[in-house]
This record gives sequence, C-alpha cells and structure tokens, in this order.
Amino acid sequence: TTFLKLGLPEFYYDYISKKLGYVKPSIVQHLSFSPILAGRDILMKSETGSGKTLAFLLPILLKLSLRQPHITRDQGTKVIILTPTRELCNQIYTVAQRLLIPFHWIVPSMLSGGEKRTSEKARLRKGCTLLVATPGRLLDHILSTKSFVFSDLEFIVFDEADRTLDLGFEKTITDILVQISKKVVRKMKNPTEQTGSGLELSAHDDISPEVSR
Ligand code: AMP
Repeated sequence: TTFLKLGLPEFYYDYISKKLGYVKPSIVQHLSFSPILAGRDILMKSETGSGKTLAFLLPILLKLSLRQPHITRDQGTKVIILTPTRELCNQIYTVAQRLLIPFHWIVPSMLSGGEKRTSEKARLRKGCTLLVATPGRLLDHILSTKSFVFSDLEFIVFDEADRTLDLGFEKTITDILVQISKKVVRKMKNPTEQTGSGLELSAHDDISPEVSR
C-alpha cells in the first residue's frame, strides 16, 4: 500500500517522501492507520527500527489536521506521548517537530526535566497541542501547573510501555491516569466513533515482538 491510500493528503505525502524520505509505509504503519483513525485503542508490538514512531504519529496527526476550523494551541493539549527516558523524549519530539512543519497550527512541546521547571511552566502556559513527556515531569506539572490545560485530551501514547514499567514508573503512570480521568470529560463528538475497543497489532511476519506500546 502507499501513504496516499492510507489517507495522507497529497501535499503531505510530497513533504514526507521528498523531504523526509518516507515513501512506503512499513508493516506496523500499514496496520495502525485504520484503527487509530477509527478512534480505537491499540497495542503495538514490533521490534526497534520497524517504524513504530510514525505508526502512531502519522495517523494521530492526520486525524488532528483534518479538523475544521484548525486546532489552535489555546484549545489545550490533545495528545500526550509518554516515554520512559529523556533521550527517547527528545527523539520523539524531534520527529514530531519535523512531521508537523506542514501542519504549523499543531504545536508540539516537550517535558523531560532537561531544563528548568520555570521554563517548562512558561511553555505550558503558551499552550501546545501535542506534548511528549517523561512520566515524573508530566505528573509534576499536572499537579503544580494550573495553566496546563488538557481537559480535551484525545490521545495518550505509552511509548515503550514495557520499559516504562521496568523502570518502576507504574505508580507514576497510575497517578497520571487518575488525574487525567478527573479532568478529561469525554465528549462524544461523533457518536459512531468507536472508543475503548482494544485491538492488538503486531507485525509477526518478519519481525519478532520486542517492544510494546
Ligand atoms: P522507529 O522504529 O520508529 O524508531 O523508526 C526507525 C527508523 O525508520 C527511523 O529512522 C525512521 O525515520 C525510519 N522510518 C520509519 N518509517 C519509515 C518509512 N515508512 N520509510 C522509511 N523510513 C522509515
């Protein structure tokens, strides 16, 4: 299949193929688009290097970019991506920044504890649509930064969920989810949208499961 058949608009396909070199979707990318676009919860398992980052970022960005009128940063954070380490947080943020150039109205930000809390607070105050964060820092700001708005959160991604748990973040993740469930009032904008129906995707064909998200 092609990225165009998966639903990416032509101008965006031109951008990712010509500027970023993504021409054909990988297996996990092929599998992830339709359930994510349908609003389903999914679990992805496949080895490092199989293209999982784009497998969740591209359909999420596609879904957000189709919204009319355009989403703005002052509508609060719509996507949270949790990563176990600061390095991974930086990496995913960099990929997201690049992918978002044609969708300049979707603003990304990052919280990894790599800078002063006050600078992080200031950035959160300006607003961001997509936030990549490590668990400790995210919980910290959820509890202490009043200007951090996420009551319209639509997506949460647990990148390398197995490693996150191995590193002992279970309690932090539970606390984050408790805070989110208190704040986020599920608004069913599209009653036909399926939510909460779990689906497991894995690319067993030529790669063995290693990392789960
Ligand atoms: P990941 O598994 O997400 O860490 O991605 C591994 C590498 O594959 C990264 O350098 C990506 O830029 C690259 N990549 C991901 N998807 C594609 C694709 N469809 N075509 C070419 N390269 C890709």
